[in-house]
Amino acid sequence: MHELSIAYNIVQIADDAARDAGVDHVDAVHLRLGQLSGVVSEALWFGYDIAARGTRLEGSRLEIEDVPAVIFCSQCRTEHALESIQQFCCPVCGTPSMDIRSGRELEIAYVEYSDEPAHP
Ligand SMILES: [Zn+2]
Repeated sequence: MHELSIAYNIVQIADDAARDAGVDHVDAVHLRLGQLSGVVSEALWFGYDIAARGTRLEGSRLEIEDVPAVIFCSQCRTEHALESIQQFCCPVCGTPSMDIRSGRELEIAYVEYSDEPAHP
């Protein structure tokens, strides 16, 4: 499963960040996920729970922020959010466009943990 390896990646990065920050438990990971990333949120949540076991992320939440697909229309000379990711056309004038400005994101926005320092 594609999403499981992505989940392991996310957990690894957040776990390292928590270790570097000296905290021993992560509360949540906030992820920015583009509509065009090809990643299914449900599958990612499922994989996350598995990947988080035995790490500083065990029991934490994965918060997913959906990033809409946005194209630049050469006719309107402006950016528009796509109405459907099946059709790469301007929703206003219908001009086809492959000039994608956002929607491919798969990145950690931030990692949330309580301020209590880890015990030495
Ligand atoms: Zn247009």
